[in-house]
Amino acid sequence: MAASTGATNGQPVAVEVGGVRYPSARSAAQALGIGYSAVTARCHDPRHLNYRWLGATPGRRQVHDPSTVRMGRDVAEPSRWAFDGCVRRAPVVDTNFDPPRLVRRVGWVGCMTCGRPHWSDDVARARMCVECGGAGGWPVGARPDGDH
Ligand SMILES: [Zn+2]
Repeated sequence: MAASTGATNGQPVAVEVGGVRYPSARSAAQALGIGYSAVTARCHDPRHLNYRWLGATPGRRQVHDPSTVRMGRDVAEPSRWAFDGCVRRAPVVDTNFDPPRLVRRVGWVGCMTCGRPHWSDDVARARMCVECGGAGGWPVGARPDGDH
């Protein structure tokens, strides 16, 4: 039977009793010949100063910390920068993954059809400007072949 299961999110909780460190409250209970609940109770009882709880407190939810929450975060969308001649590419990453997952890249790209640069929210897929019927942004500058 696994000793690490339970209310501690699977993380072993180390305890220290009389200066001896145990990898879990259960192992301390076995070594000391007392019950597991007695170990946890004494660790949280100020009268038992030689019992120290070194890990998370079981039975309580972890404190919410936005920097450690893995789900529900928006992707980091870079803001548009001034036209740079289609040089820079900025990654859009989904930080709900560890390491963060690359979703797409944004930047200025030349239109496949008219050649004019436009802002693209996905430089790999949106390579045609809106004016030419693509999913990219509106082109900047004049048409290379003159106005129609
Ligand atoms: Zn175009």
